[in-house]
Amino acid sequence: MRANTMAISLLRERQAWPLEQKIDHTVGAIDAFLAYCREHDRNPYVSFSGGLNSTVLLHLARRVFGADLKGVFCSTGNEFPEIVRFVRQTPNVEIIHPALTPRQVIEQYGFPLVSKEQARAVRDIRTTASEKLRSYRLHGDGARRPGVLAARWRYLVDEPYMTSEKCCEILKKRPFRHYNTTTKSLAMVGTLAGESKLRQSQYIRRGGCNVFDADLRKVHSAPLSIWTGADCWEYIRRYAVPYCEIYDVEGIERTGCVFCGFGAQFNNGRFRVLYNRYPKLYCMAMNYTNNGYTLRHALRRMGVTLPDEQRELF
Ligand code: SF4
Repeated sequence: MRANTMAISLLRERQAWPLEQKIDHTVGAIDAFLAYCREHDRNPYVSFSGGLNSTVLLHLARRVFGADLKGVFCSTGNEFPEIVRFVRQTPNVEIIHPALTPRQVIEQYGFPLVSKEQARAVRDIRTTASEKLRSYRLHGDGARRPGVLAARWRYLVDEPYMTSEKCCEILKKRPFRHYNTTTKSLAMVGTLAGESKLRQSQYIRRGGCNVFDADLRKVHSAPLSIWTGADCWEYIRRYAVPYCEIYDVEGIERTGCVFCGFGAQFNNGRFRVLYNRYPKLYCMAMNYTNNGYTLRHALRRMGVTLPDEQRELF
């Protein structure tokens, strides 16, 4: 185990703590992050998506450390209108934008499909000059399997359109990096280790909520890491925290970019909610293209049931 890694059992133990204990832990992590920012002359802020987790983080951080703590929202122009409204109603939140539109990103880099890890595997297999990396992404190395393309998604390697995880990098990460550099700022994010295998392994590798590094680009702070989705709801109810109304709509589990193909294979009704509420936005997204192929086509190929293609079953 590397020096700063931890055992997964410790994460599990923390995830089983009562909410009160998690709040204490999170306040400690925020306090350490704010102290680090002061020490390195950086402006702290909460990376605010308008989603439930970052709503909780912003509320808790402001409740304990003061309302002047800033939130920063990156708008791709493809969020649910309810999210944009909620962000605009939240005090002291700055809105930033990516350099490219989602349409341009999809055209240039490919569709975000399945998951960040699997999309990266597809991109690596299709583009890398390293035979070793290509072989690992396809078959693993015997002992390890993380980042290996699952058999179910092998077909994506030969599709005429590209699959890539680059979308998040260009639409979300770059604008924040640019903001951090130009305003001498550092972010806290509201991600949870339990959200995905990738986030869980990142938490374990980082050895906790905060990573402080002499290279400020490597500093990472995710003070809610050990929380679960249920904790966030419990906190919201306990403190009567205002949250985005989109969460009260049936079928909505995650917000963010409405066209995202990550997790689309679960057919969880996300596109139906979009289609029912905002058919124009839905049609615009389905017509995004890569190499002349539409997002609609790529989602069909994944086996996603699209709401405007479903036949009535009676
Ligand atoms: S959430 Fe999905 S659509 Fe949005 S930037 Fe990330 S990969 Fe792209």
